[in-house]
Amino acid sequence: MKKKISHLKVLFLSSILLLVMFTGCIEEEQKSKKTGEPPEIKMDHPSILPDWKDGEYHDYYETTDELADFKVKYPDLVNVFSIGKSVLGKDIWCIRITNEKNTQAKLSCLIDGGIHGCEWEAGEACLYLTDYLLINFDSNETVTDILNTTEVFIVPLLNPDGRQIDDRFNENGIDLNRNFDVDFGRIRGHSMPLGKLFGRIKIPYLRFDRLHKWFPNFPLFLTNSGRRAFSEPETQALRDFMRELDNSDFSFYVNCHTAVHTISSPWHVFKPPFELSNQEEKIHDYVIEWVVENTEYEDGDMSFEGYSYAASGTATDWCFKEFRIPSFTFEILSKAYEPGAGGGKHDNLVHWMKTTLPVFMYLLVNIENLHNWKTPDIQPSLPDGVPPTPLQ
Ligand SMILES: [Zn+2]
Repeated sequence: MKKKISHLKVLFLSSILLLVMFTGCIEEEQKSKKTGEPPEIKMDHPSILPDWKDGEYHDYYETTDELADFKVKYPDLVNVFSIGKSVLGKDIWCIRITNEKNTQAKLSCLIDGGIHGCEWEAGEACLYLTDYLLINFDSNETVTDILNTTEVFIVPLLNPDGRQIDDRFNENGIDLNRNFDVDFGRIRGHSMPLGKLFGRIKIPYLRFDRLHKWFPNFPLFLTNSGRRAFSEPETQALRDFMRELDNSDFSFYVNCHTAVHTISSPWHVFKPPFELSNQEEKIHDYVIEWVVENTEYEDGDMSFEGYSYAASGTATDWCFKEFRIPSFTFEILSKAYEPGAGGGKHDNLVHWMKTTLPVFMYLLVNIENLHNWKTPDIQPSLPDGVPPTPLQ
């Protein structure tokens, strides 16, 4: 009998011991859940910014060298190729950034700059984004995810000849961002379809100060759109390249300029040649609203009325018309630096690069939403000090 009792005691005590151990395990597990410490959760490493200095701009040749350097430094992420040539025979470079080792199907996007040669910061913003993506790949999770799932195509200088002489127009005196086949050459879109007079004389633009004074509805100036749509080698190159991209899940387009300080979506002046769906309008508006709320840039669809900023034959309108993907005109820099039809002030380079980066990163983290015309509500993670406090 005594033996039996002691057996029962042992059984009872060991059950208690097991229960205590088991409860302890549960407590441990709950503790680790609360503190969020399990080793399998990978923390995002803060991204770093490119080491750029104010005043160090890249002309066509410096841009060419910079792209070649990226190719040497990041052979598994970078491919550099020419999409065509300018009037004077300069290559129009494109850099494709993606993790080549990841061969899954990817979405693609195109960001370009320098279609107006005097708008330097548009090209600089393209290079800055390139640098940022490359230096943060494999350390910052957001950037790594982007390059694993996306082919980012960047054309920093669409108008190499214009960039070299700091001119808005190309070598033929044509405004390339009026040369696309959409409402081409219409006066109300600030365009005159002149081309070169007698095949020789360049007439980049005409001013109509007097006429504008008497008839305020008449544009103050008209820029030369070329005699016909896609008359220029630079716009032909971009057109053909976009058509190639269309075969690889082309998902959004950004055409960068200076210095109106806005982001805008199609349509720039006339009514679209097709019915715009509610969803397309909603998504374009959502992006613009995000930019207005999260950066210092303004809504370009609202800031300019009537003739002050009406433009026909633009790359953005044409891209949207052809491919029906979210398309934007992004005007970097403050209005105070407006270079107009030539010249202009360039200043605070690093500030403007940091101001611009969030817009690109926002679009990139939302590429799948944009591709499917779904609400782009993913917030990009950004380094400290981005975007910076607006300049006074
Ligand atoms: Zn421009």
